[in-house]
Amino acid sequence: MIDPTPGKRTELSSLGEFGLIKHLTDSFVCEQPSTIKGIGDDAAVIDYGDKVTLVSTDLLVEGVHFDLAYMPLRHLGYKCATVNFSDIVAMNGTPRQLFVGISVSNRFPVEALEEIYEGIKLACKRYKVDLAGGDTTSSVHGLFLSLTVTGEAAKEDVVYRNTAKENDLICVTGDLGSAYMGLLLLEREKKVFEADPGMQPDLAGFDYILERQLKPEPRTDIIELLKTVGVKPTAMIDISDGLASEVLHICEDSGLGCRIFEDKIPLDAMTIAAAEEFNIQPVTAAMNGGEDYELLFTINMNDFEKVKDLEGINIIGHMTEANSGVYLATNNGPLIQIEALGWNHMREEE
Ligand code: ADP
Ligand code: MG
Repeated sequence: MIDPTPGKRTELSSLGEFGLIKHLTDSFVCEQPSTIKGIGDDAAVIDYGDKVTLVSTDLLVEGVHFDLAYMPLRHLGYKCATVNFSDIVAMNGTPRQLFVGISVSNRFPVEALEEIYEGIKLACKRYKVDLAGGDTTSSVHGLFLSLTVTGEAAKEDVVYRNTAKENDLICVTGDLGSAYMGLLLLEREKKVFEADPGMQPDLAGFDYILERQLKPEPRTDIIELLKTVGVKPTAMIDISDGLASEVLHICEDSGLGCRIFEDKIPLDAMTIAAAEEFNIQPVTAAMNGGEDYELLFTINMNDFEKVKDLEGINIIGHMTEANSGVYLATNNGPLIQIEALGWNHMREEE
């Protein structure tokens, strides 16, 4: 998987650091008026006039955050860019510039980095973000990627996590749990392959959940849609660690409780089918799976009419006073306290 075109292997050392940077970044063109200086100096120069600048960073470590056994390099590049964009979107802002720090061992040929940059380029093109800089170093083992994205928003448009109000409605975009089911599927096929390298992966019919795991998209469309109908969320966060963890962030930071209704949580039919195959509850994948990169946000009750029929948005509950706790109302009756089990816990249970 590391060498994308078998037979062709250009050693990193043949280009040298500056040659490599030029090679990887030459074909990126800056198009944002705010990018005054991108790659090529000691620092990028960005001008947002009197708007605020949003900045977010992610650090990704091979073997911890991604597994090259089933993550094609192009997807890795695409995903590490788009999940960063999602952080800006979750502030109700627009991503503008991207910075890519890369630390790589000589186990990787130049062609591998080209693949990663192909994915980054696709993401930058799709979301109109300029690659404006980065850093390149060698590593002893493995691949590290550190991405920083800047974005812009009018000061009055920025939406924080800690500003939900009692009785606000809780909304999510898209569907949840699908990225986690995609991951389970990829891990299962990896095990099958390791046991018998002759086996072909059996991934047919699961395109949607695989795509959700390998190629997440930030919901720039939703923040546009909400602007169009004149609704500003009262609080917002993107769903990277699972609904439970994100709901708790909004509740704790806003000093409130909430009720989420299990039957309102949007699940794709393929997520349900895959969950059945893996013998887990689909709602568990939604609550604790993560990596869906959908938006979780709250709105004032008065905006209910404007939001209730919007495509891609589901109302799943409401905020309560803090003393009422943070609860999921399950389909068969009992209230379950929402805890942030998250990703790591789930993995331990498997
Ligand atoms: P410095 O020595 O000041 O750190 P570098 O030689 O590392 O500068 O980088 C030169 C230019 O190339 C800078 O504009 C930097 O932001 C950019 N750059 C370096 N590595 C990368 C990378 N992996 N991706 C994108 N841009 C990069
Ligand atoms: Mg440098």
